[in-house]
Amino acid sequence: MILVLLGAPGAGKGTQAKKLASEYRLPHVSTGDLLREAVAAETELGNKAAGYMDSGRLVPDDVMLGLIDELLDRPEYEGGFILDGFPRTVPQAEGLDAMFEDRGITVDSILLLDVDKELAVKRLTARMSCPKCGAVYNSATKRSKVEGVCDVCGSTLATRTDDTRETVEARFDEYRRLTEPLVEYYAEREAFHSIDAGRSIEDVDRDVREIIDTGRGR
Ligand code: AMP
Repeated sequence: MILVLLGAPGAGKGTQAKKLASEYRLPHVSTGDLLREAVAAETELGNKAAGYMDSGRLVPDDVMLGLIDELLDRPEYEGGFILDGFPRTVPQAEGLDAMFEDRGITVDSILLLDVDKELAVKRLTARMSCPKCGAVYNSATKRSKVEGVCDVCGSTLATRTDDTRETVEARFDEYRRLTEPLVEYYAEREAFHSIDAGRSIEDVDRDVREIIDTGRGR
């Protein structure tokens, strides 16, 4: 099964993708996580991406398409996967369609997690995450048991460098300008669904699973 999660920064794509990955036993491909790992490891990809990410801009399409094209050929993704944070522009979506066509695979569900800017900014500026295991917390809605310490692996939590108010605003502007047109790109497809992501994690997860399960039984 192939799932694509779309949505503004702060919509909860990562949170829902992690839940779905464990519920449906699918690998979770987060382009943001892949890029952050590459930046930390100072690889060629990381060095190219760092400046864009720090200022809240999108990494160029050719870089992202190259990354995904290489990834889709790995054996661990043969049985399906969840794409979180890709595509983020119309050229990326067109490129993804072409890659799927070349490989004879089709996407099962394209899920737009819809959230308004005010709530998204509030969520992101309260977000802390674990640099080691990727668990995500929120000082308003999902605190760790011990402040600043990951419940899962005990590491010290950190704030993402692009979760400052200024960078969040820039990321949102990029979303409006470059990612929102994807809604129109996908709107006519049977696989496309928009979900109100301003609700609790559990409510969104329930709706998402209902859509996926209905689609599977089609
Ligand atoms: P995320 O973790 O999904 O919020 O992504 C963090 C940052 O990584 C974004 O603000 C972009 O700079 C970069 N990024 C992640 N995915 C993409 C993508 N599909 N296209 C371009 N840039 C991306």
